[in-house]
Amino acid sequence: MITGIHHVTAIASDPQLNLNFYAGVLGLRLVKKTVNFDDPGTYHLYYGDGLGRPGTILTFFPYGPGSPGRVGIGQVTETALGVPKGSLDYWRERLAVRGIEFTEAGADALRLADPDGLRLTLEEGEYPGDGSGSGTVPPEFAIRGITGVVLTVRDVKLTIHLLTEIMGFTPQNENGQVFEAKPGASFARVAVIDLPEELAANPRARGLNGVGTVHHVAFRVPNDAAQEEWLAKLQTQGFHVSPVMDRFYFHSIYYREPGGILFELATDPPGFAADEPAEKLGEGLKLPEQYEKFRSELEAHLPPLKMPQE
Ligand code: ZN
Repeated sequence: MITGIHHVTAIASDPQLNLNFYAGVLGLRLVKKTVNFDDPGTYHLYYGDGLGRPGTILTFFPYGPGSPGRVGIGQVTETALGVPKGSLDYWRERLAVRGIEFTEAGADALRLADPDGLRLTLEEGEYPGDGSGSGTVPPEFAIRGITGVVLTVRDVKLTIHLLTEIMGFTPQNENGQVFEAKPGASFARVAVIDLPEELAANPRARGLNGVGTVHHVAFRVPNDAAQEEWLAKLQTQGFHVSPVMDRFYFHSIYYREPGGILFELATDPPGFAADEPAEKLGEGLKLPEQYEKFRSELEAHLPPLKMPQE
């Protein structure tokens, strides 16, 4: 069974700006500082709750300012983060004093963007979690996890078919465009929307991978055996699925849903304490074995990062 969202990965420009926003303003903990395994000259930054539990993880590839993206069709166009009931006034104030623009999205949600334009929602609700994070936000107001994502695709029917008939998602509401991986789970919602035809016919409405856009969304599977079953099942259904990739903190397979959005299925174990103790998560630059021999060159090339103080 797919039990929820595992993580969302997006593309950022400057790693320090990214760190200031997510660990500083939003109060998530930097749980891992490593490099892009496919491009070790750039960072891969992971944020989450105190332990980086699945469902709380946002990860970023800070590519630098030279690769702007465009939000549009064929992408995850919004990522919602859950905050405790009654905490939105705290967030309105916190964002306002920092000059971060936001708009009200109904009675219990705020819509905002990160420094690179990535679209986020903060939504109030009853969510599990201990409010642990970077410590810049008091636990009673802290972000609990990724409550949902919005997929924008040209033909919602095909994407919905994959979610419901193959991946086992169930409709959450009556209009049939919001689904959850596991009924009643907190960090498990996927909404599927399209755009009006006149906009969809405009090629510029198509999303462009780059800074300020989501690269992929990962869903949770409990272990390697379950992942193998999903790999076989998706292949039987005609999907081109990657082999199992060892991402060190989890194991992953990737495939594109019919609307073009990259999906990943990631295992819950082993987690971020695999290579540094829980109390030191995110402190050291962690390199996979194949890059360890280049550590001094990589460290000289990667910009130094300073933890935000606020
Ligand atoms: Zn991923």
